[in-house]
Amino acid sequence: AAALDKAWAERWLRESARVIGEHREELIDLDRAIGDGDHGENMDRGFRAIVAKLDEDPPESVAAALKMAAMMLMSKVGGAAGPLYGTAYLRAATAVGDAAALDAPAVAAMLAAARDGIVSRGKAQPGDKTMVDAWTPAVEAAGASGEPSDGLAALGAAADAAEQGAQDTKPLVARKGRASYLGERSAGHLDPGAVSTSLILRAAVTAASG
Ligand code: ADP
Ligand code: MG
Ligand code: MG
Repeated sequence: AAALDKAWAERWLRESARVIGEHREELIDLDRAIGDGDHGENMDRGFRAIVAKLDEDPPESVAAALKMAAMMLMSKVGGAAGPLYGTAYLRAATAVGDAAALDAPAVAAMLAAARDGIVSRGKAQPGDKTMVDAWTPAVEAAGASGEPSDGLAALGAAADAAEQGAQDTKPLVARKGRASYLGERSAGHLDPGAVSTSLILRAAVTAASG
């Protein structure tokens, strides 16, 4: 497996952009069902801006890559997801600090910081049918994953848990964000932000396994 270093961080962001682009219509459809239908477009715009920035100015560290992503997502994505993901990447950058490469505890700390940032900004709890329902099991799985030296195993456990968490949003009734305006009618649909989170965390694994 590749080291979880600055080259990995750059591959993670590029792979995130690729999968968000690939799933753009799916995210739009999910958000059309319980929101305003812009999540795929919002995220695609933000990640395209990240790729453009990477092309002109390669990041010097993992933290610099995450911080740049935070700035782009805050300025380009808009809606609820822009500030939430922006805060997540900013807190993740701070948690990573000056580490040249991440081990499993550093992966767990990075994901926990991201999740905590989303919760402090958006005030959603687990079960409210938001991206928090993908982040929270991911954080728990990364923290429980075995060998400290195996950062990829922690990422893999996080991505698996996020995918399950996103699937598990389907029966939930939304209590935060636009979907909450639908009340009971929000049940029966996946939360778009939980799905985009699971795509982004899977991209972290792909970027490390390639
Ligand atoms: P908007 O709802 O403003 O159009 P997006 O469609 O880009 O923004 O993002 C919607 C996603 O944001 C939801 O699917 C949900 O995961 C997430 N979200 C909305 N409000 C919150 C919140 N308070 N806390 C956490 N996540 C939230
Ligand atoms: Mg929307
Ligand atoms: Mg919107």
